[in-house]
Amino acid sequence: MTLKKNDDIRLEITTLTNQGSGLGRFNDEVVFVDSAVPGDILDVHIIKVSKNYAIGKINKVIKPSKNRIVSDCDVSTRCGGCAYRHMKYDAELLEKKKYVGDVLQRIGGVAVQPEEILSIEKPEAYRNKALIPVGLDEKGNVVTGFYSRKTHRIIDCDNCKLQMEEFSPIIKAVKRYILENPVTIYDEKTHKGLIRHIYLRRGRNTGDIMVCLVVNGDNIPSKQKLIDLLTATDENIKSIVLNVNREKTNVVLGTQTITLWGEDTIEDILCGLRFRISPLSFYQVNPEGTELLYKRAKEYAELKDGDILLDMYCGAGTIGLSMADKAKEIIGVEIIPEAIENAKENASLNGIENTRFICADASGAAKELLSEGIKPDVVVLDPPRKGCSKDVIDAVAGMNPQRIVYVSCDAASLSRDCALFREVGYEVTKVTAVDMFPRTIHVETVCLLSRKDK
Ligand code: SAH
Repeated sequence: MTLKKNDDIRLEITTLTNQGSGLGRFNDEVVFVDSAVPGDILDVHIIKVSKNYAIGKINKVIKPSKNRIVSDCDVSTRCGGCAYRHMKYDAELLEKKKYVGDVLQRIGGVAVQPEEILSIEKPEAYRNKALIPVGLDEKGNVVTGFYSRKTHRIIDCDNCKLQMEEFSPIIKAVKRYILENPVTIYDEKTHKGLIRHIYLRRGRNTGDIMVCLVVNGDNIPSKQKLIDLLTATDENIKSIVLNVNREKTNVVLGTQTITLWGEDTIEDILCGLRFRISPLSFYQVNPEGTELLYKRAKEYAELKDGDILLDMYCGAGTIGLSMADKAKEIIGVEIIPEAIENAKENASLNGIENTRFICADASGAAKELLSEGIKPDVVVLDPPRKGCSKDVIDAVAGMNPQRIVYVSCDAASLSRDCALFREVGYEVTKVTAVDMFPRTIHVETVCLLSRKDK
């Protein structure tokens, strides 16, 4: 590298990385710049140089890309959430579709091109869930907001544009409760103090709201004051709970929840079905996007009367139940006990009887089902970011389903798994990217893997 720290250069941004940074080349040397848009010509200050690349910061936009817009959020360049708030949404969608196609080809050896990317009407205020860290700033003021990129410093913000508008007054009410009562704030360094996070969830189609305080303890002072403040803030609050997290960890939620007021769960309506969700159960964060995703997954599943569907990593049962009208039997597998409880309740809440839900690790359950001789016609896989284990892939292939519908929030682990599925006889035949996370670097993908004729 000839570039040095503190150099000032003129740079044209040519592409975006999957981390949302702009990339340009200066005399063939790669420079990454945050908040830059392909097509921008920038004056850039070099802040870091390593062996193969440099990192720069925008000093001045000399000629903006045709896709550059002015960010409408005060904290978007500091907070780790929105990577694309300074870019037209159409351009973001094209980038995401291209990324999914490229990574599937590069890592997965997948030849098919993604279909048109699916996106929600308005890419704002879509998040039905907020996990807000609570901390103290240098002056000792209580701050609630978001971690700044790659750090644990909290950027104070109570009106994030991605989250549902109902959350902002609730966050303010919790802050007021903290300020007006003898409540301590958790400190990551000393592992002392009580309040760690505010965790909110809202059912978009019922309006139901859950407020959860994640605490380093199992009780809070002046409980009734919190309840009074919250219930006076929003009459749709149906559930106020504590989540106990006494661990020295970055994992936000502990495994125990205690209901302080109201219900233990909230409900939402998705794809015409009613779902009950516990604080510890996974539930997709963008409900409008989820309907697009599940609809496409159902199309790919092509279920016929008499088919058995295996829904692996089923959470509260949402995907499988949304397909139940087309199948003879749904078998769901999920590791979190509360989520499996929800899945069972959700089946009966919707009068769906042809279901069996198993609380187990995917790999063990897949092997067990294989040894029972279960022959699903279609398998849905919706694993966490890290993807499926080789065991799961082998056991699923061993059941010899006709089709596998793979839903993933990480196109890279999906691609790796698609390559493994090819070795056991399954080829990707259809792909759709779904923009479940507008303005952020994340994108969801749904793939159809079809059994190759033997
Ligand atoms: N299909 C659901 C949930 C997808 S998220 C939906 O659309 O809402 C992934 C789910 O996998 C989570 O519910 C998580 O608890 C579960 N999970 C994670 N690791 C698992 C494992 N090893 N075995 C089974 N389930 C697992």
